[in-house]
Amino acid sequence: MMKLNIQMFAVPFRKVSKTRKRLRRSHNAMEIPGMTKCPTCGEMIKPHRVCKNCGNYKKKQIIEPKEKTV
Ligand SMILES: [Zn+2]
Repeated sequence: MMKLNIQMFAVPFRKVSKTRKRLRRSHNAMEIPGMTKCPTCGEMIKPHRVCKNCGNYKKKQIIEPKEKTV
């Protein structure tokens, strides 16, 4: 009968403790999505979206500004 070689891959030597696992995952959190400055009013906005503050996109008036005008 053939000898079965089950462990064909590297096997962890020790169990990873809760602390170690949590320490490793401390860097895995999602980052805040990128924000850019509106070229018209300077407000921080999400890229490729109409600015909520002044209603501009690509320096063109798209929508009416919601509240106070700068
Ligand atoms: Zn703006």
